[in-house]
Amino acid sequence: MTYTEIKEKGEKKYYYRVKSIRKGEKVDKQRVYLGGNLKKQELHDKEQEADKELNNEKQINKQSENKPIMHKETNGNKNNLGITAEKDEFSEWFTQIMLKADLADYTEVSGCIVFKPTAYAIWEKIKQEVDVRFKKLGVQNTYFPLLIPEKFLNKEKEHVKGFSPEVAWVTEAGDTKLNERLAVRPTSETIMYPSFSKWIRSWRDLPLKYNQWNNVVRWEFKHPVPFLRTREFLWNELHTVLSTEKEALEEGKEIISVYKDVCENYLALYGMYGKKTEKEKFAGAVSSQKLHYVMPNGKAIEGPCFHYDGQNFAKAYDIKFLNKEGKEEFAFQNTYAITTRMLGVMFAIHSDEKGLILPPKIAPNQVVIIPILLEDSKTKVLKAAKEIEKELEEFSPKLDDREEYRPGFKFNEYELKGIPLRIEIGPRDLEKNEVIITRRDTKEKKSIKIINLKQEVSKILEDIQKSLFSKSKKLFESKIEECDSLENLRLIINNKKIGIVPLCKEQVCEDNLKAETGGAKAFFISDKEKHKDKIKSEKCIICNKKADYFVFVAKTY
Ligand SMILES: [Zn+2]
Repeated sequence: MTYTEIKEKGEKKYYYRVKSIRKGEKVDKQRVYLGGNLKKQELHDKEQEADKELNNEKQINKQSENKPIMHKETNGNKNNLGITAEKDEFSEWFTQIMLKADLADYTEVSGCIVFKPTAYAIWEKIKQEVDVRFKKLGVQNTYFPLLIPEKFLNKEKEHVKGFSPEVAWVTEAGDTKLNERLAVRPTSETIMYPSFSKWIRSWRDLPLKYNQWNNVVRWEFKHPVPFLRTREFLWNELHTVLSTEKEALEEGKEIISVYKDVCENYLALYGMYGKKTEKEKFAGAVSSQKLHYVMPNGKAIEGPCFHYDGQNFAKAYDIKFLNKEGKEEFAFQNTYAITTRMLGVMFAIHSDEKGLILPPKIAPNQVVIIPILLEDSKTKVLKAAKEIEKELEEFSPKLDDREEYRPGFKFNEYELKGIPLRIEIGPRDLEKNEVIITRRDTKEKKSIKIINLKQEVSKILEDIQKSLFSKSKKLFESKIEECDSLENLRLIINNKKIGIVPLCKEQVCEDNLKAETGGAKAFFISDKEKHKDKIKSEKCIICNKKADYFVFVAKTY
């Protein structure tokens, strides 16, 4: 085991091998982690795997060094250097993924980031998938102003109380002080609903389902994290107005299933649906329900949401309609959102020590084709690569035929950038009518006959998509633990996990729970049938009186 070294971190021992990587003229040393707390056999297997990988790379480098081609140094471009943090050094690792996989960049405005093209393309894809499903349900897109007069914002008391600490204000135009302050929208209820009040007259005007894809600003003072917590973010806000509570709640299920569909089948993310407690619900709503996710570091995070507003806003903004009996009634309302935070959740859950991992169905390029270009066979190999690019068109392949970079350098680059499948075409493979394909998620490599390529690629991409989803489900399940005492809950939280405990609905118990667990929250109420039954005989872990529900308790973003 000459190339294995041990690094201890707390209880855990990590094994790694030092690998030499050529970067232009320089040779860099990089640590390749084999894993933590491995048993002897596991370590042996991992080492064999690592050896194989190293040999493959040596072969390729030898091939390309036979007839040297021009190569370019990285020019100190930070994007071309690998990830140097482990996934359990989460915040450093996550920041490196953001910057080095070229997803985001910081700006001079603290808490506001630039979405680089890959990240924005993924957001566009999410938008497109959600939007097409919304339209099937009768949703129409609109656009309302960014600035909201203060008097509008102040109409719904709970709502304004919930948002006012985070509102950014416009107070001047040039040198002139404005008569009335204008809020930069933190959400648009207060600018949309005065218009709804004007437009809605009778039951014939309902349901009204207006959506907008826009940006909002919430001036939080917590530590910002790219995508996960930023002061400005992008989202959809869908606001609907309906005649009855029943219709409103039914619509809620439909829209949540749209979000669930896109998050599970495109982002490959397993989330758990649940209702918020009174304390945690949206300011002004009757109830809030969301999809919830667990990050690799054990912190929980909220995903897409549905708020049922009942008649609260209708009463504050005077949204009334004449029903079929000719009687005037207040309308019922819902709001829904999915935000760019889901990008961060997805990047964090799927990626690894080598960089980004993207589910094929959301990746801007599902396949990268890398021809091994040697002087004497270049023309033939390039021609084959172009043919393959054309054949695989439906997977939006990226053909990297830059001659100034070595294949090994390109392999690292696309591993870092998370393209799901890599296809290498070398002269020797071509003689056998084969190419080598490598999965980004498992790093599994195999030779495939070109004649079967399209079919195989489609199969493997599907498999990557499924396997990432089931991994994310396993991650969620591995992080939750049921218990019925405060002592055990503290242990669970300290172990960076999420506890499920019986609690009563008194707010003081929820407050005490937070204080007693070092800041963990009653994140959402369990929706599981087994919990609904079991709760009848359970006691609140704080006051020991009858419990009302099981809650998931977690440290959160
Ligand atoms: Zn209690």
